[in-house]
Parts: sequence; C-alpha cells; structure tokens
Amino acid sequence: MYDPKSLKAEEFICHEEIEETLKYADENCNNKALIREILDKAKLMKGLSHREASVLLACEDPEVIEEIYALAAEIKKKFYGNRIVMFAPLYLSNYCVNGCVYCPYHHQNGHIPRRKLTQAEIRDEVIALQDMGHKRLAIELGEDPVNNPLEYVLESIKTIYDIKHKNGAIRRVNVNIAATTVENYRKLKEAGIGTYILFQETYHKESYEKLHPTGPKHNYAYHTEAMDRAMEGGIDDVGLGVLYGLELYRYEFCGQLMHAEHLEAVHGVGPHTISVPRLKKADDIDPDQFDNGISDDTFVKICALIRISVPYTGMIISTRESQAVREKVMKVGVSQISGASRTSVGGYTEEVRPTDTEQFDVSDQRTLDEVVRWLMENGHIPSFCTACYREGRTGDRFMALCKNGQIQNCCHPNALITLKEFLMDYASDETRKIGEAMIEREFANIPNEKTRGLAKGYVEKVHNGERDFRF
Ligand code: SF4
Ligand code: SF4
Repeated sequence: MYDPKSLKAEEFICHEEIEETLKYADENCNNKALIREILDKAKLMKGLSHREASVLLACEDPEVIEEIYALAAEIKKKFYGNRIVMFAPLYLSNYCVNGCVYCPYHHQNGHIPRRKLTQAEIRDEVIALQDMGHKRLAIELGEDPVNNPLEYVLESIKTIYDIKHKNGAIRRVNVNIAATTVENYRKLKEAGIGTYILFQETYHKESYEKLHPTGPKHNYAYHTEAMDRAMEGGIDDVGLGVLYGLELYRYEFCGQLMHAEHLEAVHGVGPHTISVPRLKKADDIDPDQFDNGISDDTFVKICALIRISVPYTGMIISTRESQAVREKVMKVGVSQISGASRTSVGGYTEEVRPTDTEQFDVSDQRTLDEVVRWLMENGHIPSFCTACYREGRTGDRFMALCKNGQIQNCCHPNALITLKEFLMDYASDETRKIGEAMIEREFANIPNEKTRGLAKGYVEKVHNGERDFRF
C-alpha cells in the first residue's frame, strides 16, 4: 500500500510503513554495523531515507549522537555556510472557522478578541517591519471563507509589495494559509508569492482528526495533499512543518521525511523549507495538556537529523524557541530564523508587544537589531537576501543549484550586500561597527575573484546610498 508516488495521502504517508519503520528502528538502534553504514551514507551529503534516519533517531549512543551533530554542522556549512536568513511573520487576521485544539484562534474560543487588518492597517504594520529592516515576510491568517477570502489575501499581498517606505521594501512574501484549491494556488502564484507554507501539524491520521474536530481542516487527506495541489497550481517552493508535541515525535519525524520523499518522487523537487515549531503556551492553550512534549535535547537531535536527511532544504525556527535553543539548532542545521516577531494581529504598530491576540507565546523577545548583533557575535552572517525568488531561481532550478553547491556563489555575496543595507539603514552604532568588520572579513570567503570584486563594488554602492543589488 505504501507508495511515495501516489497522490493519495494515506498511501504516501502510509501508517503501516511508519509503524514498520519505527519497529525496524527499535530493532536496529544498537546495530553498530548498520548505524556505521547509515552514517557513512550520510557523509556523502545526499540525504537519508526515512528508514535510515529513523534508526539514527532511535539510537541513544552518545558517540553516535556526537557524530550526528558534527556531520549536521558540516553539511550545514557546505550548503549554507555561516549565513542565517532573516524573516518576520505578519498576522493579518485571527478569524478562523476551524477547531484546532492546540491553537487559541480556534473557533470555539469566544473570549479572544477577533481582528482582521484593513489594507491601511497592513500598510502601517509593513512600514513598522520595514523600519526594523525586514525584507522577507510570512503572512499568516486563519481559515475563514467569509472574513478571510482569497481575494483579501491577494489584495494584501499586493499592498505589501507596493509599500516603499524610505529605503525599505518587502521583497518576498511567503504565505501560510489553509489548504485550498489548485485554482486558488494558481492565483497565489500569479500574485508573486515566495514559498507556500502549510504545517501538517501531525501526520498521524487518527490523532489529526481528534486534534481538528471541526471545520474544513478536519479533512486529513485534503490537508495532506495540499502541497501536490499547490505544485499543480504552479507554486514551485513549498514549506513543510509539523507541530512537535502533538504526537509521538518519532512518528512525526518519519512522516515528515516521507512527505519530502513524496514531493521529490512526484514533482522532482523536495520541500523548499522545513519548519520545526514546538507546541507553546497561548491564550487558552496549555502545552502540559498534551502528553507528547519533547525535551530540548531531543529537539536538537531532530533538527540535526533533518539536516543530514534532507541536506538541501532550508530549515526554519521561530521565536517560539528561546535564545539558548536557537543557538544550539543553528549550529546543527537551522538556516532561517524570525526576529523581533509579534504573533498577534496588528502587533507591530503597538508600543508594547500585545499579548491578547497572540497565536503563541514568544520566547525570544529581542529587537531585530539585537538579534542581528547576537548572530554576528556567534559567527553567523545575518542575511536579508531574497534574490532567488526575484531572479526566478525557484523550484527545480533552485534545487539543482542548491544540490550541486553552486548556490553558494550567490548566497554569500548577497548576504553581505543585504547586511550592508541593514547596517546603513537600521542598525545601532554598535551593531554597525560589528557588521562592517564582519563584511570586510567575509569578502575573503568569496572564492571567485570576479564575484568578490563585484560584491565589493556593490557594497561600496550601498554605502554611497544605492540599494537592491544581487547575484
Ligand atoms: S491553527 Fe490555523 S486553522 Fe487551526 S485554529 Fe489556528 S489559525 Fe485556525
Ligand atoms: S541567494 Fe537564494 S538561496 Fe541564497 S540566501 Fe539568497 S534567496 Fe536564499
């Protein structure tokens, strides 16, 4: 019944295959010869199957775990260097007809204030985000055909792209909306979205149906097959994610890799990104209600194993996680983080971070300037690059460049150019000083002499007031 090429959810995320994989992993978690073989395969940096990765996840040998971490760090360096791409979520509306039991926006929550931004309010929010230095947004809104129809989403995307405030611009809008039709995905593509993001929440069908008791999201197959419809509608870049803490993490991890394998098998392109959210406290949600919470150590291990199993995919972590956890996972694979996030509708224009309409509690509450400085102090280059999407390097074109490592020739100089923009327009004096020194140092890490020369020239032009250069 298991068939990664099938378009039916229950066949490409086959429950029996996951159960058998977990049994196989349990039986082999101390099989030193097999584990050696899997680790050697992982060193080729071409990824692992869900079965192989599940064996490593089940293995508790500290030496093996150390080797996994070292390899994940090496793979991250090869594919992503020391760059971290920055983004911010923008909540447009918390109206929602679904009954997701882990989210405070669920329909039955009668006391949370409901809010939907007008286009004028979106403009104010985007200006506030631009004034921090953000260039890449992920828009978020609940599922509600009356309050949040697709036309509203399309109009909002247009509003966001059109706002040019001082030197600011949002250059890539990723979209996180409910599963929809091929026709609607086509409209989103035409509106110029970056990645279409849809979290699976859980791959366990029975749990999924219990956790989503009411509303259209209850339909497991429709939700799980959404990425196939998105790709049919012409969206090249899709982002997966499960909400760790809802089900047994080993089940979710296996399902997530099977989903990535399915996208590769059917569309020839794996997920552009994989997000790793963990269940957090929010309005009427207490994570302790759920039995499947995972420790920080397990969480870091999952991130490292995703990195070695799907080396080419971007990995995203949000401000749900603390500074300390974010530091750990960036070492072993995370390549994209949000900064200075407000997870409430209209939160960026408020003086003090509002909590009454938050979707989840923000653990990392630092400003973008502080996050940028902290990244640089930890040896990461904060990047505000959005070049690929704007150069049409999406889908299989992007993946081909990513898999053969050539994308590095663009990412590194683009990181330096966009960091320079941030330093010139938004940074504090202290951050600017650290950043200028970093840019000077990092020129030396552009191997191609011609590219290095061009990058230096572009940085100089940014210094002199011009903007928006890219490779
Ligand atoms: S997770 Fe999404 S669909 Fe579910 S209640 Fe929250 S906003 Fe609505
Ligand atoms: S060049 Fe492309 S892959 Fe690299 S950071 Fe920029 S947008 Fe991302």
